Amino acid sequence: MECLRCKAEMFTAKFCADAVRTGAYLSNKKKGIFESERISGVTCYVCPVCGHIELIANEPQKVKLDR
Ligand SMILES: [Zn+2]
Repeated sequence: MECLRCKAEMFTAKFCADAVRTGAYLSNKKKGIFESERISGVTCYVCPVCGHIELIANEPQKVKLDR
């Protein structure tokens, strides 16, 4: 993947939001309805030049709620 700003080739890294370092993920759930949580892993791309990071859901359809 290319950086949107400087077109440098980005590398992947683990995006961690806490000290547990389990990595980031997306979660979605309908309110008030008993339904299992929908989860997708996230891949993080990092630009080596400007430091721009991009988060991509690995399985976006899994997190999308049905209407
Ligand atoms: Zn960049």
